[in-house]
Amino acid sequence: MSNEINYQEVINDIYRDVSDKENIGQAASYIPELAKIDPEKFGVCLKTVENQEFGVGDWQTKFSIQSIAKVLSLSLTYKILGDSIWDRVGVEPSGNPFNSLIQLETDHGIPRNPLINGGAMVICDLLISHTENACAEFLQFIRKICSNSDINYSTAIAESEKSVGYRNIALCNFIKSFDNIKNPPNEVLDFYFHMCSIEMTCQELARTFMFLVDDNFKTRENEPVLNISQAKRINAIMQTCGFYDESGEFSFKVGLPGKSGVGGGIIAVHPGKYSIAVWSPKLNNKGNSYRGMNFLESFTTKTKLSIF
Ligand code: GLU
Repeated sequence: MSNEINYQEVINDIYRDVSDKENIGQAASYIPELAKIDPEKFGVCLKTVENQEFGVGDWQTKFSIQSIAKVLSLSLTYKILGDSIWDRVGVEPSGNPFNSLIQLETDHGIPRNPLINGGAMVICDLLISHTENACAEFLQFIRKICSNSDINYSTAIAESEKSVGYRNIALCNFIKSFDNIKNPPNEVLDFYFHMCSIEMTCQELARTFMFLVDDNFKTRENEPVLNISQAKRINAIMQTCGFYDESGEFSFKVGLPGKSGVGGGIIAVHPGKYSIAVWSPKLNNKGNSYRGMNFLESFTTKTKLSIF
């Protein structure tokens, strides 16, 4: 990272500029529990590979990370099973909304990538098949990489999503009909909804994702998370598939691998340099945080710290 840049000042300035503009979009309300969140929340945390941390706004408030968790379940599955996972899920951008059923028919139940809902369900299915207790081991994995035992599922959010999750239930059963889900769909969906319900702060997210920034990252127990080649591949998938059918736009404007969630969070990483988490619940029409995208576009433009 450049020593000449005052990162705290940079994020404070961008935060003020973005806050001064109208906050456009709609917070996700299709999950009833998410509709209760104050849509004006706004937080940012930047963590550098030199272990410096900068935060502004609501950066220490927990929120529902939703689809951001898909990167973490993918990473754990990749760690356990290696390249065999790519027989069950692709690595192509979908160009479709995250919960689309259309491509699955022509692709014979092999989801385009692990960051859309169908792909994340196949990953959940793999974790259920290869762990004693997927829910417990997944949580343990996140707590370890974040060195923080205060990370939890939100049962209220998981139950709330389950109560209205008709499309996800359809997706899971549809993939099962192609035999690309091996466990009972109810079990897979239960884990999927729990996985999406994880709550974290921007600070916790920025810390957690350092395993995709720092080649030398080790947990407190001195264990690496992924090898360098695996981390490269996860970053490549985030770069091309991390923002639903707005992945090209995010790459174009921000120029970092990242992942968003319908809770309004975005995590982005600059391999070798930093991770940055932004949270603002109002989403644009593609389902990505309106302020989050604007903040990150300004950040990489002002600091010239994008990967391109
Ligand atoms: N749990 C959400 C769903 O399946 C995740 C969506 C997201 O964050 O993209 O609808």
